[in-house]
Amino acid sequence: MLTTLELSSQPSLQNTSNPMGNTGSINRESASLPFAYAKPTDSSQNGEREHQPAQVVRAPRLNQTQPLDERPTTPRRSSLDATSTDEVAMEGNDTKGLKVITLAQLNSTTTVGLCSQGLAKLSPNVGLLYNTTTLQLCCNELTHIPPEIGHLQNLQIFSISRNQIRSLPDTIGLLSKLVELRASENELESIPSSIGRLTKLTTLSLDNNRIACLPFEIGDAKALINLDLSQNPITVLPAEIGRLKFLRKFRLDDCPLASSFQYRLENSVPTLKELAARVIVRRQVPIVSHLQDELQEYLTGAHRCSFCGGPYFESFAKRGKFIEKADYRVPLEYRLCVPHWNTEEERISLLFRPLPETAPQKTPQPGATPAGTPPGSPKPGKGRQYAVNQEE
Ligand SMILES: [Zn+2]
Ligand SMILES: [Zn+2]
Repeated sequence: MLTTLELSSQPSLQNTSNPMGNTGSINRESASLPFAYAKPTDSSQNGEREHQPAQVVRAPRLNQTQPLDERPTTPRRSSLDATSTDEVAMEGNDTKGLKVITLAQLNSTTTVGLCSQGLAKLSPNVGLLYNTTTLQLCCNELTHIPPEIGHLQNLQIFSISRNQIRSLPDTIGLLSKLVELRASENELESIPSSIGRLTKLTTLSLDNNRIACLPFEIGDAKALINLDLSQNPITVLPAEIGRLKFLRKFRLDDCPLASSFQYRLENSVPTLKELAARVIVRRQVPIVSHLQDELQEYLTGAHRCSFCGGPYFESFAKRGKFIEKADYRVPLEYRLCVPHWNTEEERISLLFRPLPETAPQKTPQPGATPAGTPPGSPKPGKGRQYAVNQEE
């Protein structure tokens, strides 16, 4: 599914429009804004949870000398102590009883290291960290990442490993400078398709989650070198993985990978609506503004054939192939707009022929926004759609 990524121009701020100014320092007004909420009990007491990559500067440590039994009632004296109970109430009941960490309490906004700080919730104000290049939130108790994370346009390293996060916001795809995304040991069940927009991403750690399917768009994250998918219920991977030319460290330990494919060779016949929509997308016919909303939405939901790059909607044929990669026999699944082949011999012979006519047209009409293209997408005409045979 192609998704449209939108964020309001500013994160939801309580009372200021340009809190960080152009200098990167937090001004007085915004310094008191909550950045995160932490459990009063210091989870870093447990030494086993300790996890601290060397390059990351730590936030001030909580004072650990306070006796445990005093914690709920006696606030500890530390730079991360709650400053105002009113602020706790601002973001609703689920932050009651949690202590507030304000932006002012971060000792740097460029590198924010908050490993093992008992963080239970992030405020949307996290979007104010425009200048942050490293954000380390690992070994906490977060369950949710607010969509405002997409405002962190300078973020290069983002670590949220060892939390209880169930999903990532689509806006993660807006982090165009992101090089490392570490989300190991969470409860993720899926990865947003916008991951394909992270064209600088070299390291993606997703081990120890609950991911069964990866989006085919992962094949667009061309810079990927390290991909760890160990300990996920993955049985097959999208064929587009085969296009990641720089992939060197690829881990699939303890994934229940399929050892054979069983697909029906026939596929369902597309509806007339789908056939028409395929032509519109393939020829990049501009979507007229008075088109019904439902149809516009349908057209933007085009998927891309794993072989020819042509569009399909609900109707597709599955085919499988095994590749040897990093000591694994990796089952790759193709989703095809039409049954381009039935046997491996047929597939290989197709590689020596011109692309079928189901492939998208190569010359977009000048000035048109092609159907099926979400706003802000790279213009077709070059690259991925037409380079479908590169995986070989
Ligand atoms: Zn950590
Ligand atoms: Zn196709």
